[in-house]
Amino acid sequence: MVVDIQREPSQASTKSEFMGFANFPNQVFRRCIKNGFHFTIMVVGQSGLGKSTFTNSLFLSEVYDVKPHQMPIPSTVKIDSKTVCLVENDVKLYMTFVDTPGFGDAVDNSNCWDPIINFVDQRFADYLAEETKIERPENIADNRVHLCFYFIAPTGHGLKELDIEFMKALQDRVNIVPIIAKADTLTHQEMLTFKQNILKDLDTHEIRIYKFPDQEGTIVGIKNAPTKCEDNRKRIPFAVVGSNKVIDIGSKRTRVREYPWGTVEVENLAHNDFLALRDIVIRSNLVDLINVTRDIHYENFRYKQMCKGAKGNLERDPFTQLEEERRTVEKEAAEVRRTKEKIFAEKVADREHKLADRGKALDEQEKENRRILHEKHGMLQKSLEELSEFRRAAGINDSGSSIGHI
Ligand code: GDP
Repeated sequence: MVVDIQREPSQASTKSEFMGFANFPNQVFRRCIKNGFHFTIMVVGQSGLGKSTFTNSLFLSEVYDVKPHQMPIPSTVKIDSKTVCLVENDVKLYMTFVDTPGFGDAVDNSNCWDPIINFVDQRFADYLAEETKIERPENIADNRVHLCFYFIAPTGHGLKELDIEFMKALQDRVNIVPIIAKADTLTHQEMLTFKQNILKDLDTHEIRIYKFPDQEGTIVGIKNAPTKCEDNRKRIPFAVVGSNKVIDIGSKRTRVREYPWGTVEVENLAHNDFLALRDIVIRSNLVDLINVTRDIHYENFRYKQMCKGAKGNLERDPFTQLEEERRTVEKEAAEVRRTKEKIFAEKVADREHKLADRGKALDEQEKENRRILHEKHGMLQKSLEELSEFRRAAGINDSGSSIGHI
């Protein structure tokens, strides 16, 4: 049983009575500031739906180059990822963007989601491998995919077969948030009908998209007003507009799409749902998305892996596993030692070879010096003999005095 003891500030006013656990939120806050957050967003949809433009608009930065027609569209699905560090009021957000160029662009798109499933599972598997190591790192890098923005083409009808198949395949692995691309291409009424059709399709095919949690926080000053979060949730699936063009409207910098008949503002709720989406995802639910990924999707994956492991490894008790790991570590260490010894032996042989070459060169040099010396000695000898001959002929003796004839 938990007894509720309320400690009023007045009761805990003296230093000795104050335990300090009221400071817990500050400790958590400081820790978060120090470590920052890691978040991975995957963006999926056919090319040309405005995914890159939208991502840039969402994070107010040029995460992707939007240079249409420069890059050829890959014939199979490729996975590209890119991490940026975003800083806002000392809070660091390490955001990884995963792009899937080529998705849905082929003539036959059956199973084109397989590379995406493999990618998500691999991220889970990497995390599981780190987590189950005997010596675990203190902070395991969380590279799991926390959110998938799925872009739906603005056809005005409903979901296509590919949309349904993709979401069905991914719904148990990642938090899916469906997005209607290029909202400016449909009228208000067409958009309402399109959204209703999409919701009906999701329901018919029992597709589970990410469920935004209830949140308190009514609009200030308006009694019984619906919560802001509630308002935002009514806009699902979010219909967005993206743009890389920023102009000044009055004193405000605004992202817009300019047409001959008017201007669409990205951050205008009367024009599209961009602001509602950014608010509900980035401002209100990043932590919930991380928690759902950890507690539901990752746990699903872990459970499946454990079941697989248990079937295949009934004989493996923890001690056998420990012994196996020890042997693996020893084997790896022996391998490293062997490689180092080989490198050392190669270096010694190389040095000996160089020394032998140098010795040979020195011998050659010495021989040459001796030969030159010998030659010079011969020449000197010859000169001396010539000198003696000359002296004798000139009648000069060895002491330098001339021999006189009487
Ligand atoms: P991606 O291939 O899905 O990454 O698409 P891009 O972001 O490269 O955009 C493809 C083209 O669509 C570009 O010419 C963009 O200017 C344009 N575009 C992007 N967002 C929108 C939008 O909200 N509405 C309209 N009408 N066009 C858009």
